[in-house]
Amino acid sequence: MENSQEKPLIQTMNAGSRPRQPQQYYDAIKQKFAEERDLRLRYRPEGTSQYTSDLGGWMARYEIDPYGGEIKPREPISDTVECLFIGGGFSALLTSARLREYGVESIRIVERGADVGGTWYWNRYPGAACDVVAYDYLPLLDETGYVPSRHYAKAPEIFAYCQLIANKYNLYELAIFQTTVTSTVWDSAEKMWHITTDRGDQLKAKFVICANGTLAKPKLAKIKGMETFKGHSFHTSRWDYEYCGPDLSKLSDKVVGIIGTGATAVQAIPRLGAAAKELYVFQRTPSSIDLKDDWPTDQEWANKLRPGWQAKRREHARMDARRMEEGSAVAGVSREEKIRRQENANIDYMMRIHKRIEEIVKDKATAEALKPWYMFMCKRPCFDNDYLPTFNRPNVHLIDTKGKGITEITEKGPVFEGKQYELDLLIYATGFEVQKTGIYNQIRGEGGLDLNEKYHDGIRTLVGIHSHGYPNLFIMGGYQASFQFNLTDMLQSQGDHIAACIDYTRRHGYQTIDATPEAEEWWVQEVIEHRGKTTRNQDCTPGYYNFEGEFQRRQDGNYNGGFNRYCTHMEEVRAKMEDNFVFAKE
Ligand code: NDP
Repeated sequence: MENSQEKPLIQTMNAGSRPRQPQQYYDAIKQKFAEERDLRLRYRPEGTSQYTSDLGGWMARYEIDPYGGEIKPREPISDTVECLFIGGGFSALLTSARLREYGVESIRIVERGADVGGTWYWNRYPGAACDVVAYDYLPLLDETGYVPSRHYAKAPEIFAYCQLIANKYNLYELAIFQTTVTSTVWDSAEKMWHITTDRGDQLKAKFVICANGTLAKPKLAKIKGMETFKGHSFHTSRWDYEYCGPDLSKLSDKVVGIIGTGATAVQAIPRLGAAAKELYVFQRTPSSIDLKDDWPTDQEWANKLRPGWQAKRREHARMDARRMEEGSAVAGVSREEKIRRQENANIDYMMRIHKRIEEIVKDKATAEALKPWYMFMCKRPCFDNDYLPTFNRPNVHLIDTKGKGITEITEKGPVFEGKQYELDLLIYATGFEVQKTGIYNQIRGEGGLDLNEKYHDGIRTLVGIHSHGYPNLFIMGGYQASFQFNLTDMLQSQGDHIAACIDYTRRHGYQTIDATPEAEEWWVQEVIEHRGKTTRNQDCTPGYYNFEGEFQRRQDGNYNGGFNRYCTHMEEVRAKMEDNFVFAKE
């Protein structure tokens, strides 16, 4: 391997692990996990509707872009391009790169933000960084010749890298920023998509790629009285540096509160703790916090890299995924025993996380409150070396709501168990709406059928990318696709697939490509089969990974067959293009 890299934990928790404790020990912890999950489910029976991402009316301010500057008036655009991306994040960038390699010239990005970057455009909160190794996370490193400056890249570097890709592949020329797509309608006579926007544009495109991201739209917890709060407030993805100061120095005389302790808050809290006069952290469920083994890139190592080095790393990642999938069968071990061993190994890891907390956090009650009681990967695992020590600061106060959450806010601030917390600033670190195919956007395919209506009785796609009746439309990072901790690995495999499908369609002189109903049905059954193999969604504490514990149809959500199998299936689909798709010449 080109550089030392710790093995992802999830891969080391395999069925070969030997239990370190008697089985009763693990059973008792599993019982506690179940109790903690049930407690949370009882407090929030409303599931996903406890949140709103419909930020109209008084909530509109939580969605305003603080980074893009004034929205300059412009004439509406009405023209035609070959490929149009809805969204300008990594999905669009890495797929465009492949399309350029196939000789596609006419590529347009339509993006709500004022630049490319997607999540890295919006998330500029203090401490923002990616906790996936940068040499894997940043796509197209072979193509751009770029070497990340450190093992874990920070947000500004990733954002700048997005701009670098857009420049290299000449994607700014046709891009339209500060513009939101509102409808995408298929015209079967013209064999074109008609796209309208909130700026009055009437665009046409032969191919449309939904690249709107999996966690793009900020959401807020619906909390009684939140509209009455008289202090300042914002969502983490719309950080108000004018209020805080670029280095947060304006917070030195402010009492700050933050609601939420997910991956975003874990990165922001240490910086807030260091800057604010007082910081109140309102916690509902703790995150699991492990060490972040970070270092600046060794220049000697970087100089030795030869083109193709990242492709090799991706190949290794896929081989690891394959070993995990094949490792499902441990010789002589039953399925039940295998699951039991995996769970035990998972518990061993989580108890190590508990031990770290005990070692770092001085106040015993605070340390206890920071312990996560669920299996690893029930929630997004976090890696930060400053988070736990922050709770040793005298100005930082953990308000553990023990699963209940903040349910009331007055004009002064949040209230918990009758106690009023008076704040100058309240920050919502409450996350994002999950995986909608058309956000802000209505997609109508053949016969005018709304995609959400088609999905009404269950999601139906081929490899999560194509949906029958929506010719020349490709969906990235959506339902029924695989899940990878390194999301860009998954997006790159989808981008490669989409570009290859578009290239095939163009080379054969076809006008349209559409998944056959049979191919789509095959994929739906594949998804159902693999979801049936795990009770993970029911067993986990609620969060966005399991739709807040809500009942789910078995075909909704991700494809659980593993990343390697997912890539193999895409390759199989492409190997039999004429069987899996209907093509139209005229
Ligand atoms: P999350 O959805 O993960 O977290 C929302 C938080 O808000 C949870 O802690 C939730 O508690 C809490 N919450 C909601 N309502 C209340 C309430 N009424 N009172 C108290 N707490 C409440 O959002 P994030 O923005 O933190 O993260 C979203 C995702 O973004 C991550 O999972 C990750 O995929 C990505 N991300 C990735 C990073 C990276 O390094 N690659 C860094 C940052 C984010 P509860 O847990 O009980 O539901």
